[in-house]
Amino acid sequence: ANERITQLARTDALTGLANRGYFQERLKEIFALTKRHDLELTLLLADLDHFKRINDTYGHDVGDKVLQTFGSILARGTRTEDLPARYGGEELIIMLPKTSAPDATALYHRLRGELIHADILPEADYVTFSAGIAEYAEGDTEASLLKKVDDALYEAKNSGRDRCVVSP
Ligand code: GH3
Ligand code: MG
Ligand code: MG
Repeated sequence: ANERITQLARTDALTGLANRGYFQERLKEIFALTKRHDLELTLLLADLDHFKRINDTYGHDVGDKVLQTFGSILARGTRTEDLPARYGGEELIIMLPKTSAPDATALYHRLRGELIHADILPEADYVTFSAGIAEYAEGDTEASLLKKVDDALYEAKNSGRDRCVVSP
């Protein structure tokens, strides 16, 4: 029963992914390990494009369904040691230990294809997402890495959406 309670406390109810609190807990741990052993660690921060339009056009239930589908695409499309989580309303994040930015970019393109072909919306309408990607570099703190990935996502949105931007 206690394990079940712990599991629930770590889980986002809509998507079934890890919630923000659990993500932050695990990031702290993996970040320390990365730094100490000089390993690779990349974050991918994903945000659905024009999600407000989807809610407005098809209703909030369809919006929820899009988020759930996006969540399961991330869960199925990543490795056991990766951690996809719901970071905010329509923002999902993936922690990718032992992964470089180019590998995360390839992952972005794979996930993008799966979301586009998920057939969630009626007629010929489809869903895209933008992502920021940031790889740990010497001197980074957890906060600076999160800032880098956030800035990269902002850049992806600003430069037209439906793309990923790797933090310099
Ligand atoms: P952008 O491409 O710039 O990201 O545009 P956007 O419309 O996706 O971004 P904006 O931040 O304007 O709107 C986000 C929307 O996400 C508004 C909010 O109602 C919706 N949203 C957040 N959480 C949920 C949820 O749990 N379910 C549903 N259906 N919608 C949600
Ligand atoms: Mg957003
Ligand atoms: Mg959005």
